[in-house]
Amino acid sequence: MSHISYSEFTTFLSCPYRHKIQYIDRVRPTSIHLIFGSAVHEYCERFLLGNDTLVTLPELFDLYYEEREMEPFQPILKKDIEQILQQGAKFLPEFKQNFSEMFPNYKIIATEKEIYKKLVDKINFKGYIDAIVKVEDIYHIIDFKTCYSGWNQYRKSDIKALLQNAFYKYFSDYNFESTQTHYILLKRVAPAKQRVEKFTVDSSNIIEKGIQQLTKTARMIQKGCTIKKRSSCLRPFRCQFLKTKFCR
Ligand code: SF4
Repeated sequence: MSHISYSEFTTFLSCPYRHKIQYIDRVRPTSIHLIFGSAVHEYCERFLLGNDTLVTLPELFDLYYEEREMEPFQPILKKDIEQILQQGAKFLPEFKQNFSEMFPNYKIIATEKEIYKKLVDKINFKGYIDAIVKVEDIYHIIDFKTCYSGWNQYRKSDIKALLQNAFYKYFSDYNFESTQTHYILLKRVAPAKQRVEKFTVDSSNIIEKGIQQLTKTARMIQKGCTIKKRSSCLRPFRCQFLKTKFCR
């Protein structure tokens, strides 16, 4: 193991055996939501770079579908693709319209910026920041999240969910005091003008514990911990590997 990402970290916390299946055995079935999320991320990043007119969301969806690592466990139906692309066609114009209101006079610093920084011993933290923009003297680290109708209060106060941007801020090259972090929620089902939300997180009071937990997790992975955490089989969602050949 030479690096750990945020998604590896959260997968291991939820179930070390699921981490083994996904990151050691590399069993990663695709899904309509994974493909849609990748297509939307790329579209948003292209918009920020000024070249979103060169490709459409359906074209990007097709591209990511073609490049899938593995077949989905659930078949991806044409009617579901049409529905999800229609939802994207509603929130993307709002995103494009609202971005400069959320970050007035912004300057693009980077999109899809790779972070690869030492965490502990021979383990690095690896991640990709969706976008970094600068407004006056402040750097804004942005992560796009496609979601159903937004995040509820439980999700907005779930420290584990908020650590992603906190890690990005911690491992980025920018001064901690002059950096802010935001999630841009892109809602598939929401009333007009409420389909895009900027959710800003103050990570200063969660980062210390987060780094301790990340380090501990990386060491447990390094030691080969692959226990089955059965309490995660059905909560908060049904694990896709439950009762398959990968986890009986
Ligand atoms: S089915 Fe349960 S034990 Fe198996 S990988 Fe999923 S969460 Fe872990």
